[in-house]
Amino acid sequence: MNYQKLKGTVDLLPEETRKWQFIEDKARDLMRTYQFNEIRTPMFEQLELFARGVGETSDIVTKEMYDFRDKGDRHIALRPEGTAGVVRAYVENKLYGPEYHKPTKLFYMGPMFRYERPQSGRQRQFHQIGVEVFGSRNPSVDVETMVLGMDLFKQFGITDLKLVINSLGSSETRKIYREELIAYLEPHLDDLSKDSQVRLYKNPLRVLDSKDKKDKEIVKDAPSILDFLDEASKAHFEAVKGMLEDLEIPYVIDTNMVRGLDYYNDTIFEVITTNPKFGANATVCAGGRYDGLVEEVGGPSTPAFGFGCGLERLVLLLEHMDFDYPELNPLDAYIVTMGDRADQSANKLARILRQNGLSVEREFMNRKAGKQFKTADKLNADYVFTLGDQEIDNGIVQVKRLSTGIQTEVSLSELASSFDETFSAMIRSTEKGEE
Ligand code: ATP
Ligand code: MG
Repeated sequence: MNYQKLKGTVDLLPEETRKWQFIEDKARDLMRTYQFNEIRTPMFEQLELFARGVGETSDIVTKEMYDFRDKGDRHIALRPEGTAGVVRAYVENKLYGPEYHKPTKLFYMGPMFRYERPQSGRQRQFHQIGVEVFGSRNPSVDVETMVLGMDLFKQFGITDLKLVINSLGSSETRKIYREELIAYLEPHLDDLSKDSQVRLYKNPLRVLDSKDKKDKEIVKDAPSILDFLDEASKAHFEAVKGMLEDLEIPYVIDTNMVRGLDYYNDTIFEVITTNPKFGANATVCAGGRYDGLVEEVGGPSTPAFGFGCGLERLVLLLEHMDFDYPELNPLDAYIVTMGDRADQSANKLARILRQNGLSVEREFMNRKAGKQFKTADKLNADYVFTLGDQEIDNGIVQVKRLSTGIQTEVSLSELASSFDETFSAMIRSTEKGEE
């Protein structure tokens, strides 16, 4: 049998995971500075939760879910996004209780699953980092969270980004707007794409979001939802815009942006890369306000704001700018062995060095000494320790510092009994200019 990975999945080999770990570490650091704490929810949930949370008519629920029945006949889905699970956990664990600091600021990072047509920046198993803020309607929450979404990219020096915002108002607004939009689109019914024809009466706002060329032409002159906002939503949107301006963060308003998930109200946003190499899948981060979802999932009425960022697209952006990743796992010491006794002694030496915090590799392949030195060089080791019969008889190990080429001897027993002193002396005597 010749097994192959499933379509839309990838193996991240060490050369790649090295990059991913660096990115994940930086993202975690950033979350800390914003005082977001990590939540880890299950990779699968009751299908019903996603149908409820994401929206019955969304593409994610109608076309893209990996769902199955388990052996207990439960209808289950692999999570296609992070918010529904986090909201479920927030409600189930009563994180809204008086003992918790408010607002609740959570982040998550991990794989999501959608049955989609794989292409560059689009997989079936992909990764998102996302945040959710529960408990405040303050427009400052919207702004802080959007800025965080931008900073996730900016901290790597990515600058070709555009912040696009819109407001979806209240559910009352959307009801009125829905009718207006249907009235505008109906005369164009025959010219709309098949998908949009289906959506027209089910979820007309999604027609605005269509990627079809002809649809785009038609919706260009559609009425703007911003003209239908009530006073509260208007004030909220004005406040958000004012704060962005105050922070001197450029943004553009796209009144046709509605987002793929159904649960949003008021502010929604996308971070889009303007990198010309990116083409169609240019949205790298997307989210907005969803004040009704916690209640929808069975909790107390709780305002909320969140986003999801695609990590594959972040990795791609860094590839496009030839990002220089630091070495993640530098090698402090390589142990060269000559003979069986040395092979065994190397176990002890490696153990001492590792117990003192060094990263150590040793010879396993019984190669000739020259080959072993070449390996140490290739792995970019700081020091090469050499053990042979003679060294063992004398209770020492030869040490060479590769950057200076200077060599010294170190007592094995001293290394074991007073590591810090012995190792410092070894470093000093292999420094340039010491001779
Ligand atoms: P799109 O219109 O590109 O399908 P979406 O509206 O489905 O996006 P969201 O559900 O808002 O996307 O997800 C947020 C982010 O997650 C996206 O902006 C993107 O960066 C990333 N993302 C979504 N689906 C995929 C996928 N299949 N593969 C890789 N990344 C993805
Ligand atoms: Mg999608």
